[in-house]
Amino acid sequence: MNLILLGPPGAGKGTQAKELEEGHGLAWLSTGDMLRSAVASGSEIGRRAKAVMERGELVSDDIMIAMIGERIGRSDCARGFILDGFPRTVAQAEGLDSMLAQEGRSLDRVIEMRVDDDALVDRISGRFSCTACGAGYHDRHRRPRIEGVCDSCGGTEFSRRKDDNAETVKTRLAAYHDQTAPLLPYYRKRGALATVDGMASIDEVKQQIAAVVEAGDV
Ligand code: AMP
Repeated sequence: MNLILLGPPGAGKGTQAKELEEGHGLAWLSTGDMLRSAVASGSEIGRRAKAVMERGELVSDDIMIAMIGERIGRSDCARGFILDGFPRTVAQAEGLDSMLAQEGRSLDRVIEMRVDDDALVDRISGRFSCTACGAGYHDRHRRPRIEGVCDSCGGTEFSRRKDDNAETVKTRLAAYHDQTAPLLPYYRKRGALATVDGMASIDEVKQQIAAVVEAGDV
């Protein structure tokens, strides 16, 4: 099963992708995480992406399409994948379509996580994640059960994203509305889009997504 989670920054895509990875054995592909690793490693792509990410703008389509193309060809994606943060433009969606078509694969579902803009700033300020496994937490809404210890993997190191600040969030939201939201009609037209209420609790959203996934192929 090949899925896309689509939604603005702070919608909970990473949280739900992790649930799907653990529950369904799908590979979780977060282009934001891939880019942050590239920045941390000081690679050529990382150097080109760093300033763009810090401003909250989008990295170029050619870099992103090449990055995801290489990634979905790996063996852990054979059972299926969840795309988190890709595609973010119509050009990326078209690039993905042609890559999948070339390999005789297809998308099963595009799941939109709908959240009010006002809630996003609150969600983004205060979030942090486990450095080892990526599990997401929040200062006010979702603390680890044992303080300082990751619920998922027992890790004890956590990190916060540099771009999770009020100023950059505005640019990231604008990028979502201007460049990513056109993907909704793009996928709706072909009957692949399902929408869940991203304002609901994490467990409720998980159940709504499970219902979409269990409903099967489009
Ligand atoms: P995310 O972790 O998905 O919020 O992504 C963090 C940042 O990485 C974004 O604000 C963009 O600068 C960049 N980024 C991640 N995925 C993409 C993509 N598919 N296209 C362009 N830029 C991206």
